[in-house]
Amino acid sequence: MDLWDYIIVGAGSAGCVLADRLGAHPRWRILVIEAGGSDQNLWIKMPLGYAKLYTDARFNWCYTAAADAGLNGRSGYWPRGKVLGGSGSINAMAYVRGLPKDHDDWASEGAKGWSWRDVAPAYDAIEASGLRITDLADRIHPFSKHFLSASQEMGWRDGVGLAPMRATLWKGQRWSPADAFLRPALKRGNVKVITGGHVEELEMTGRRVTGVKYRHGDQSYTASASAEVILSAGAIGSPQILMLSGIGNPAVLRGLGISPRHDLPHVGQGLQDHLALTLGFTATEPTLNGTLGRTVPRWLAGIRYILGRKGPLSLPVNQIAGFVASDNTQPLPDLQLYANPMSYDATREKRPTVSSYPGFLLSAQPCRPTSRGTVSLRSSDPLDPPVIQPNSLSTDTDCNQAIRAGRMLRHLAQTPTLRAVTRTPDWPSLPVMSDQELLDLFRSEAASNYHACATCRMGPSALDSVIDSRLRVHGLSGLRVVDAASFPSVTSGNTQAPVMMLAHRAAETIVADATKRGLT
Ligand SMILES: Cc1cc2nc3c(=O)[nH]c(=O)nc-3n(C[C@H](O)[C@H](O)[C@H](O)COP(=O)(O)OP(=O)(O)OC[C@H]3O[C@@H](n4cnc5c(N)ncnc54)[C@H](O)[C@@H]3O)c2cc1C
Repeated sequence: MDLWDYIIVGAGSAGCVLADRLGAHPRWRILVIEAGGSDQNLWIKMPLGYAKLYTDARFNWCYTAAADAGLNGRSGYWPRGKVLGGSGSINAMAYVRGLPKDHDDWASEGAKGWSWRDVAPAYDAIEASGLRITDLADRIHPFSKHFLSASQEMGWRDGVGLAPMRATLWKGQRWSPADAFLRPALKRGNVKVITGGHVEELEMTGRRVTGVKYRHGDQSYTASASAEVILSAGAIGSPQILMLSGIGNPAVLRGLGISPRHDLPHVGQGLQDHLALTLGFTATEPTLNGTLGRTVPRWLAGIRYILGRKGPLSLPVNQIAGFVASDNTQPLPDLQLYANPMSYDATREKRPTVSSYPGFLLSAQPCRPTSRGTVSLRSSDPLDPPVIQPNSLSTDTDCNQAIRAGRMLRHLAQTPTLRAVTRTPDWPSLPVMSDQELLDLFRSEAASNYHACATCRMGPSALDSVIDSRLRVHGLSGLRVVDAASFPSVTSGNTQAPVMMLAHRAAETIVADATKRGLT
């Protein structure tokens, strides 16, 4: 048996930040246990390797959600990172902070101390530390200038509308949370990471969590933590481990043959995600399809990348995006838009297939859905993937937002600039679709943007949430949840920056609590 001060479960976006911040205290011994393996792989380093990683089970849990009534019974594909760096090693690298209103709403939902004023310094700190962020402004594909002109034609100005993105990459390579935070932490000597270690359940003495049981190959091991265990296994993994440990809804756990140890009915409830409607258009001018949709140019792009980390493979798939208000009645942005100078079929199980003819994509994502789904256990077997029920479009608000997203894509596609470069749209009837038809289109076409969160959400008490605003599991000691699962609700845009911010602040809280107990 191994004794540590802190055990972090999961070396993803949150776990890597925690390892770095807690490991800065030289007297503490920190163990990080990660189910996945090494991230030293060309497809992880190469930004456009994203397409390969999307379905690569060596690095990806490759979940499939349950049939979703709101999406016409479709089962969405839910990739999640299973590798050092977690989803931050397989994601699309867009770096987007939560909007001020997102965090002010967290505070008013009961997450005391998580308002914009509270969290802004932590975003600054993350960006000023080991994280490398590249502004894509001077690297965008020539076709993308049409998106910027279209944005002007929509009347969007002053930080609103389409613009080049910022991305977590550096000198043509992905800069993951493992690059930014874990590797520097490991150099200090007091942080150890175990890869291929699948945590199966928590060890408890009464109401105190004292360690974890994990499987490595065919063997089972126990590791003990004198201070705390921190679950950073992500929005799917963290509630799964809690429930396997008997922490959740007692009746449901009993039904699965798991002895309940702590009554906490909100574990796995509250799941949120972003859905995006993406429409394809055949273009009259060359787009990235000319390079990536044809064999010889694609090979040449590969050689260019390997020789100098340059060319289209050195950039992420999303280069142009922005927040907009769907109409004048909206006081704040309520849609995130993406515009890609390449068309591909990026839906569901298949690896994205790039067509050889020129094309582009426009995509709209409602920012703050109100529907909530669930993550629950399929069985008591820790290796059984949990049941993900997104419960999409289950509120009128979300159905209205889906219609607004369709209307927005219609307006954008009809700007003079985009009409001039469109040969044929995928959906020629888009300009005349009724609201009901736009909603039907969203139900039949929209897909996850992979921003799962809020399954162990912060809140005032066990009656409405799983953790308190210091991220401690209600009613237990020695246990926190620090990852996307901890969000009270989804932020307006991409979730990795808010996760890293949250982990940075969590580390400050953990250090402050340890100082009070004389542990520093
Ligand atoms: C395909 C994809 C594209 C995305 N694109 C973007 C983007 O462009 N920009 C953006 O901001 N966000 C993006 N996201 C979302 C973002 O990456 C996530 O919100 C963020 O990485 C979540 O961080 P986390 O720490 O909560 O979980 P993760 O980073 O998923 O980390 C959880 C870790 O825990 C490990 N784990 C799970 N269960 C166990 C267990 N039982 N035992 C041991 N280890 C375990 C996992 O293997 C994983 O490494 C994307 C996500 C995906 C999947």
